[in-house]
Amino acid sequence: MIPYSLLLMTSAQASLAPFNIWNDPATKKLRVRIANGVRQIKIHGIDLKLSDSSNLKLENSGSTNWTIECNDKGIIGRRSDSAAEIQWKTPLTIVSKSGFYQANDQLIRESAEIKLSGKFCDLLTELPFEQLVTAKMAEQTTKAMPDSALDAEIIMVRSQLLYSILKQREKSKNDYEIDAPKLLTLNNGEVLKEDYRLQASLKRTESAVLTLGPDAAPEIFQAHSHASCAGKTVTPENAWGRSIPGYKKPIACPACLTAGTVNWNTEIRERELINLMLGGIDHTGVPSQWPRDWNRWFVRARLTGIEIKKRDESNRAQIMTITFAFNEEAKMDFDITASTFKNWIGLDTIKSTRFTVATGAVSARVNRFTFEGQGQGHGVGLCQTGAKSLASSGMNTENILKTYFPAAQIRKL
Ligand SMILES: [Zn+2]
Repeated sequence: MIPYSLLLMTSAQASLAPFNIWNDPATKKLRVRIANGVRQIKIHGIDLKLSDSSNLKLENSGSTNWTIECNDKGIIGRRSDSAAEIQWKTPLTIVSKSGFYQANDQLIRESAEIKLSGKFCDLLTELPFEQLVTAKMAEQTTKAMPDSALDAEIIMVRSQLLYSILKQREKSKNDYEIDAPKLLTLNNGEVLKEDYRLQASLKRTESAVLTLGPDAAPEIFQAHSHASCAGKTVTPENAWGRSIPGYKKPIACPACLTAGTVNWNTEIRERELINLMLGGIDHTGVPSQWPRDWNRWFVRARLTGIEIKKRDESNRAQIMTITFAFNEEAKMDFDITASTFKNWIGLDTIKSTRFTVATGAVSARVNRFTFEGQGQGHGVGLCQTGAKSLASSGMNTENILKTYFPAAQIRKL
């Protein structure tokens, strides 16, 4: 077998041109929007330097807190130890000599910019591409991950980020290259898990991404992953109703089933379930095929049944029917996709669409619904539980990626 690092090198020469969008992808800094549409940004840092586009400059020595507000008058700043308001011209740049500071719950390296966007604030910063990869990886638990699974994950995350950046460039109206809200969110005071294992993995997989197509015209593969597929992944068509190049059929993932607990169950009472659905509808809108008077049923009738109407080939629920009734005669069925239902109820409650649901009664006036499911996440692409398990049994990075993305090839940027 050819070692994975060698494979990377041999496929490197022919395919560079289309991805050569930066001179050095490892150090190239990208403009990242890390918050958008906020009214207020609280800044906390040491030796802060604030300056705006009209060249108004302020320097604070020592520890300082600022509250920056955006509204239709512009950007207004107030220091915690002074009542005076300062009107700033957009954009307001804030730098700390100490190298970092805090903006709301995010950690800023060196500098960030507050931009007025309508009546709200956007927060933008610059980060090297590989640091974006690190920050994205920090969202996951990498501790128990064997090296080859960690490498596979990093190649995938790098591909995802590059795909977003290239998509963003196509739009090109924005003055940032990637929209990554909450990317630098502080977690127990720690933002970038720059542990040595992650750094070593970044180095091992340097510039490697997943691609499709011939060497002469490769394209970035649209990589997706999820926590646990419970035995079989799902195609984008079945999960989201749209196809994505390179995903042809579900992938069997038996390693997932033996790797640990994939079962979940939850019980939700009638009124709570209705409220969760109403909250979801507030967010995503009313499904187009529903009757105009849907609200009357949700507010006044009883929720009497939930059934799975259609399942896909990996046994995930696709369409559900939710039944409301005023009495035996006056009933109404509402169809909804299982993925919408899952989003409405919450991804921590309905962890996947592979579930069954049973209707029961708490009392004569209160129904309850018991959901029993397997797996976690949308089920498309790389299964993290499965990948970890394959890595533990000795599979190398390339074969792990090949298992879940048979159509994709690893190439170097
Ligand atoms: Zn799996």
